[in-house]
Amino acid sequence: MSLWTPELLTGQPKSVGLLRNFVGGEFVASGSTFAKVSPVTGEQIFDVCEADESAVDAAVQAARAALKGPWGRLSEQERAVVLRRVADGLERRFEDLVAAEVGDTGKSISQARTLDIPRGAANFRAFADFATTAATESYTTVLPDGRRALNYAVRKPVGVVAIVVPWNLPLLLLTWKVAPALACGNAVVVKPSEETPASATVLAEVMAEAGVPAGVFNLVHGFGPSSAGEYLTRHPGVDAITFTGESATGTAIAKVAADRVKSVSFELGGKNAGLIFADADLDAAVEGSVRSVFTNGGQVCLCTERLYVERPIFTEFAERLAQRASELTYGWPADEATMNMPLISKQHRDKVLSYYDLARSEGAEVLTGGGLPSFGDARDGGCYVQPTVVTGLRQDARATTEEIFGPICHIAPFDTEDEAYALANDSDYGLAATVWTRDVGRAHRAGPALDVGIVWINTWFLRDLRTPFGGMKLSGVGREGGTHSLSFYSEPTNVCIEL
Ligand code: NAD
Repeated sequence: MSLWTPELLTGQPKSVGLLRNFVGGEFVASGSTFAKVSPVTGEQIFDVCEADESAVDAAVQAARAALKGPWGRLSEQERAVVLRRVADGLERRFEDLVAAEVGDTGKSISQARTLDIPRGAANFRAFADFATTAATESYTTVLPDGRRALNYAVRKPVGVVAIVVPWNLPLLLLTWKVAPALACGNAVVVKPSEETPASATVLAEVMAEAGVPAGVFNLVHGFGPSSAGEYLTRHPGVDAITFTGESATGTAIAKVAADRVKSVSFELGGKNAGLIFADADLDAAVEGSVRSVFTNGGQVCLCTERLYVERPIFTEFAERLAQRASELTYGWPADEATMNMPLISKQHRDKVLSYYDLARSEGAEVLTGGGLPSFGDARDGGCYVQPTVVTGLRQDARATTEEIFGPICHIAPFDTEDEAYALANDSDYGLAATVWTRDVGRAHRAGPALDVGIVWINTWFLRDLRTPFGGMKLSGVGREGGTHSLSFYSEPTNVCIEL
């Protein structure tokens, strides 16, 4: 019987499926398992095999062996054919992936169908294209003594890449790393979040179905410290680590990686600002802010948690945003009209609720939300919180400086353009910012003025996969996307020929 039943959409499956690790082309069980529960109902939906140190070692050895096998001898074009087969396979398994992703996260079926799963397949096609069309560097050299040379760089795989990802956009963030790593000829060992083991397991099935050679893609389930995440990142057979998650976890992984000077790519946390100028299209700014604050339950690294609004429109904007937040519909994930989703776990819900309380104790005025919804059905066992809008906090309050990662934003007024940039930049983080204005000059000034990796003007979360993606300060190290990903997942060797 398939593990990926539509019952997962309800968070109340009739049986609890077993999710196994995928090592050297085989699904393998392990001695100990942990329970994965539905964030919608709190009921257990999977037993997940936790990879111990020897299972992680076997996965790294399998990846190393695969590099020496047929995979290591394929051309970029041949690898691209394999990647496109994986994309086709993901599309064939579309409904299984929707069930897996919605089951794990409780996100709405409409979001999984329009964002998470299609982007997973698109990542494989995009990186098949980038890797087969990217140029390499070449220089003709003329020395003062008249000698001449031709230099050109060849790209080689880095080797075995450890991929450690979070739970908020599980398939999308995972494939964003697996696709370029494989396009560049590496073998990978993937560690999805303990909260979202399911869609990565479907991806392993698709890899096998698509004929990806054994050992090229390996999957180990488990937790971070003293579990699969730590065993993998500190394994001496790993050549590079790509990680998306909390900044504090990035620090822990950086320390382990330093021992063997492994190359690292880190996409970390954010405390993103949205700037609403008085000349903005107010309807668009309100609706855009509803999306940027509340999409995916506020659990997107790019979500806005700090809104700064030019004083003449501050009161109207705040009232309208609070009104819209209070109208966001609760529903079961399978209902297309559902807007709100639960937080990923009770632990995360408690953390977000503690920030609601902290904001109040720091002097916030709560315009809407601030507590728990009540359903009178099985969802009362889930991890829902109310979408929340607050004002009145100091710029240095903990609730306005620390990443909450839930459906909450604080709104504060500003008076000048320079003040708006200064407030936005007054953060330890530097991932993304959103600016709403009709002034074309200001739209162009914002990018250079804001200390973040991505500035959106009159939009949010609109991504071109070729563009650089990543953060400054505590938000990350390096950039992903297009040629930036190819650079991380390849080692260039320069060839110098005297002519
Ligand atoms: P997390 O850091 O707790 O966990 C991420 C992954 O790391 C999980 O697979 C976890 O098991 C593993 N892990 C934890 N400790 C580890 C350790 N010591 N060694 C090795 N692996 C370890 O993050 P999370 O709670 O899953 O995700 C939410 C965070 O991710 C937020 O801070 C959010 O901003 C961030 N995020 C950033 C981006 C981005 O692109 N910048 C995208 C999505 C999420």
